[in-house]
Amino acid sequence: MLACCGLDCLVFLDPANLAYLCGFSGTDGVLIVTSRESCFLTDSRYTTQARDEVAASEVGEYADKVTGVLDWLRKAGISRVGFEAATLPYATAMRFREGAPGFEWVPLDQELKPLRGSKDAGEVDALGRAAALNSAALAEVLPRLTPGISERNFALELEFALKRRGGEEKAFDFIVASGRRGAMPHGVASDKLLAAGDLVTIDFGTRVNGYHSDETVTLALGMIDDRQRRVFDTVLAAHDRAIEGIRPGVPLRTIDALARGYIDDQGFGEFFGHGLGHGVGLEVHEFPVVSPRSETIAEEGMVFTVEPGIYIPGVCGVRIEDMVVVTADGCRVLTQIPKQFRSLPV
Ligand code: ZN
Ligand code: ZN
Repeated sequence: MLACCGLDCLVFLDPANLAYLCGFSGTDGVLIVTSRESCFLTDSRYTTQARDEVAASEVGEYADKVTGVLDWLRKAGISRVGFEAATLPYATAMRFREGAPGFEWVPLDQELKPLRGSKDAGEVDALGRAAALNSAALAEVLPRLTPGISERNFALELEFALKRRGGEEKAFDFIVASGRRGAMPHGVASDKLLAAGDLVTIDFGTRVNGYHSDETVTLALGMIDDRQRRVFDTVLAAHDRAIEGIRPGVPLRTIDALARGYIDDQGFGEFFGHGLGHGVGLEVHEFPVVSPRSETIAEEGMVFTVEPGIYIPGVCGVRIEDMVVVTADGCRVLTQIPKQFRSLPV
């Protein structure tokens, strides 16, 4: 990347990239990579941790981040510097620019996106372990998914169960959206009480070794009506069709189209507005995007979600989400919770 962009070095500040490139698990530091060496710099809060964790030719400490980085670059005789355009705060970028007027700062965005796109065996293992925690935690708390519990309390139960089992942190604010609230794709758990006849969409995840799980299950509380059942069956069939179509070399927008086309054919096209999925790794949402606009081709080792949904305002919603890893001849589903229709006793 240095050569193709004519750069002397790359400066990374994004915590997920720091974890990926040099093993640093803290939240504040800088990695500078040249064609000859790499240097990790941080402040005194993290120096001991960095010496322990970081794989770089040099680990140093600064009192002030911008000054520390500019001093290092000057000493190394470097002046054309690539940086993460998507995550470097504008104020910090301005301080870098103003502190070294002779330097050229080159914003990189699309060039950096595929950096963490293909996962190695260790990464897939951590993602699988995070997914296994989802399955065990939901099984533990499922008996409490009954009429009368609030969406928020069920979300809390799930969060505790994941933490007790070793989950590092919840992956995001869990979505528990029941009945009509199910029509909100991102309906964070509310005070609404669950009721018999509701479809309940639960979208949740945790983190293991820095790697996330992200999974959605939609369950019925008791008997649901025929329209809700038709919505559920359509989403599940769309999900299955997309997964069957995944293999190296297939454009991700084709995988999106497998699910979207089916939902369209069933007459629900207007109720599926979001993309089919997204990459998952050190961040819950990362490269690649699986959508009609995606320009990425599936490659072995990519991990992404397949999560079609149908959201009918004022009526109900269903989403079904699994994480898959692309294999040599297809894909393997990393998440473990069964997705077939389930009606819980009320
Ligand atoms: Zn999700
Ligand atoms: Zn997702």
